[in-house]
Amino acid sequence: MERVIGRYEGEEKGPLFICFGGMHGNEPAGVKALKIIFKMLEIEPHRNPTFKFKGRFLGLIGNKKAFEAHQRFIQKDLNRQWKPDNLKRILNSRPEHLLPEEQEMQEILLLIRKEIKDYQPEQMIILDIHTTSAFGGIFTIVNKDEESLRIGSQLHAPVIKGMIDGISGTTLHFFIDKNFPIKTTAVTFEAGQHQEPQAISRSVAAIINCLRSIGAVDGDDVENIHDQMLQDYSKNLPKITELLYIYSIQEDEAFELLPGFRNFQAIEKNQLLGKNQHGEIRAQEAGLMLMPLYQKQGEDGFFLVRDISDN
Ligand SMILES: [Zn+2]
Repeated sequence: MERVIGRYEGEEKGPLFICFGGMHGNEPAGVKALKIIFKMLEIEPHRNPTFKFKGRFLGLIGNKKAFEAHQRFIQKDLNRQWKPDNLKRILNSRPEHLLPEEQEMQEILLLIRKEIKDYQPEQMIILDIHTTSAFGGIFTIVNKDEESLRIGSQLHAPVIKGMIDGISGTTLHFFIDKNFPIKTTAVTFEAGQHQEPQAISRSVAAIINCLRSIGAVDGDDVENIHDQMLQDYSKNLPKITELLYIYSIQEDEAFELLPGFRNFQAIEKNQLLGKNQHGEIRAQEAGLMLMPLYQKQGEDGFFLVRDISDN
């Protein structure tokens, strides 16, 4: 399996846009969407002779080994390992001395460094596509970079702020100006439930909206079917929410949620949510449910967010 799903470069110089699918190996939607996008880009200049692309676009698989095994990760959650001190050690080690996920990181970083060196862009944008084990929501997670919020808002899905204060080592933490020689912006898009076929078309729409937002393609060249699809789905979801609470699963915990919670479902304070070996798990506070965990692998049991759209 190749790391690079596709690559496309316009005649005009522009940003380096890197889109990840499969950062978690059990989330195929982003990878499938990228394959579709690169086919579309091949056809587009023939369909539309005035089509122009600005910049270099690279589609990558995040966790290749886990993707082949159809599981979230092999030994460590790749999207919790993006920490600067991890990186130094990983870059200075021989691959055979590294854990599977560390090998993935080493390959990805060397590849990105090479792209920056080759292309010499002024700006790099990372779009990291994920799906969730629960149904009921698409959303965009942004970091503290203003450009991240700007792009995130233009994907036309609910935006979640403050998430990066609660977890660590995600692509949103790592792909920032401080860690690269050029302006670097990251956005995460959650496209729906892992196996939902629509998660693929929503990912296609998010990638296209992102390409427009960063100026890689012209607004006129983008069909508004992509906006419409995401807007329709997000119609009854809050526009902007903020992280309130994270339930972190302990190492030996027998964590189990009640079935059927959906993303953005309203939760009351004290509501019964699940159980572990010590008894009931109840909501610490009222909020909206996000990413309730219905799979074996994962460190976060659920998140609660609150709607701040009108603030
Ligand atoms: Zn994921």
